[in-house]
Amino acid sequence: MLVQNSLSEVLRAREELFSRTNWNDPTSQLQNRVKGEDLARYFVLSDSERVGIQNTIRLLVSTTPYYLSLSDPSDPNCPIRRMIVPTKEEAIFSLEESADPLEEERLSPVRGLTHMYPNRVLLFSNHSCSVYCRHCMRGRKVSSNEERMEKSDLESAFDYIRNHPEIEDVVVSGGDPLNLADLRIEWILKELNQIPHVKICRLGTRNPVTLPFRITDAICQIIEKYNDDNLSIFCNTQFNHPKECTKETKEAILKLLKVGVSVGNQAVLLKGINDDEETMLTLHKKLLEMRVRAYYLYDPELIPGSRGFRTPLARGIEIVEYMRGKIGGMGIPQFVNDLPGGGGKITIGANWYLGFYPKTRQHVFRSAVTKKIHFSFEPIGSNKESYYPKISDEEWEKWKPR
Ligand SMILES: *Cc1c(COP(=O)(O)O)cnc(C)c1O
Ligand code: SF4
Repeated sequence: MLVQNSLSEVLRAREELFSRTNWNDPTSQLQNRVKGEDLARYFVLSDSERVGIQNTIRLLVSTTPYYLSLSDPSDPNCPIRRMIVPTKEEAIFSLEESADPLEEERLSPVRGLTHMYPNRVLLFSNHSCSVYCRHCMRGRKVSSNEERMEKSDLESAFDYIRNHPEIEDVVVSGGDPLNLADLRIEWILKELNQIPHVKICRLGTRNPVTLPFRITDAICQIIEKYNDDNLSIFCNTQFNHPKECTKETKEAILKLLKVGVSVGNQAVLLKGINDDEETMLTLHKKLLEMRVRAYYLYDPELIPGSRGFRTPLARGIEIVEYMRGKIGGMGIPQFVNDLPGGGGKITIGANWYLGFYPKTRQHVFRSAVTKKIHFSFEPIGSNKESYYPKISDEEWEKWKPR
């Protein structure tokens, strides 16, 4: 049975946890993580959360005290809380869901490596994370001991990369690569740095958000050492809500930037957490203030127990449409759908382009700023006229310049 604590008991438990944690020390944060049913001590739980914690079919439940401190102890709709605490939707395996909708396993020539695009691969470096996000897309691997990557597995993956000169870009993900020990990370970066055709390494890590103290001087020095003429190291992180943008996260990001690592954000569109225009705009404004550029906005995948997070496809399109014109382009993510069945990622954007009217050779656009119709001409002598969707006479009558 889960404990059922009152708000004052919850607040006291939080205070006790926070004072016992050596706050800026990542090891202490990890040692004091709140796991599984212990979560009940730090929240006044709703019935749905009680079911979720006990019956989740997804990954382990765990949070750092730091990330817990951003959450609301009494409001089940708190966005941070929704990313930490399972709800009853997480206990349901829906018909349309599958453990590996992107067929990453089918596209895996060696253990822990997915080779879907010709010139880039996804390397699964480890299976652990600082916080287990309820919306995690890698639920089948993350937090599962069976998925442990041994050193020999990584060696085979490096051999594969070495033997495939077309691979230029290695996305290191997991789990979270920054949950590996410094020495292991150093070894991975060194190996990649020594493969002549690998030019780019991307670290996919949520630690800047969930455990910013993990971005220590020591790990920054290691990264800097291998971020050189042979290899360009990038970091892609995952902020999903403005509440995650704290002074601690900003310090972590600035440290990465100082060692020449460009930081991008890959948000996930999550129902009830960030699926509205203003939240997403504010998030990306705050990210730019931290010098984090927008990269992707993911539509959640059809993994088991994901139904509580999924929004209509239109939501993502509407949100990026709304952002256009209200924030610099480097703050607008591309809305991405990773196609089920191993089709890779595609982007879906707002339709600003309405079509081509051959009689006047004009293109018709919708403006994000004026909200009106605007026109431009196709160059004389163009051989691309058949490329454009045609505008009918009727539509032209409606839109034509007056
Ligand atoms: C997302 C992904 C990549 C990287 O894709 P980009 O669009 O270059 O960011 C590479 N491999 C796999 C299997 C992926 O899922
Ligand atoms: S940090 Fe990333 S891999 Fe780990 S649980 Fe969260 S989303 Fe999944």
